[in-house]
Amino acid sequence: MDMQLEKPLPLPTPVTRPFWDGLAEGRIRMQRCLDCDGWVFYPRSHCSHCLSDRLEWRDVSGTATLYTFTVTRQPTAPQFADEVPQRIAVVELAEGIRLTSTLVGVADADIHIGMRLQPVFDRVSDSVTMLRFRPA
Ligand SMILES: [Zn+2]
Repeated sequence: MDMQLEKPLPLPTPVTRPFWDGLAEGRIRMQRCLDCDGWVFYPRSHCSHCLSDRLEWRDVSGTATLYTFTVTRQPTAPQFADEVPQRIAVVELAEGIRLTSTLVGVADADIHIGMRLQPVFDRVSDSVTMLRFRPA
């Protein structure tokens, strides 16, 4: 008997939907402030630098480096038991934006801070594509 637990998935909101729709199209879209030019992530209604509400969505390349990481050998939740060890990473995009993701396609011994990464668009359901990273 296979008791596969259903994994929790992101639920797009009006504010975050452009980000998720972009991933489904193989694009990484980030908010940029029209008043201070700051990048904003996670998606929100106001700039995290100057509180302006004049934000626009821009495509970024996804070129990134590994800022920090951990390898989890116990599931972070029961639904992720089939994914351990998980390579959880904070990734820094070329624009300076840092985001939490997971590394794929790399052996633990080859993971090192500062390594160059490229995005992987992982379609996990009909409506959700997750952004992961692998060595460039
Ligand atoms: Zn701003």
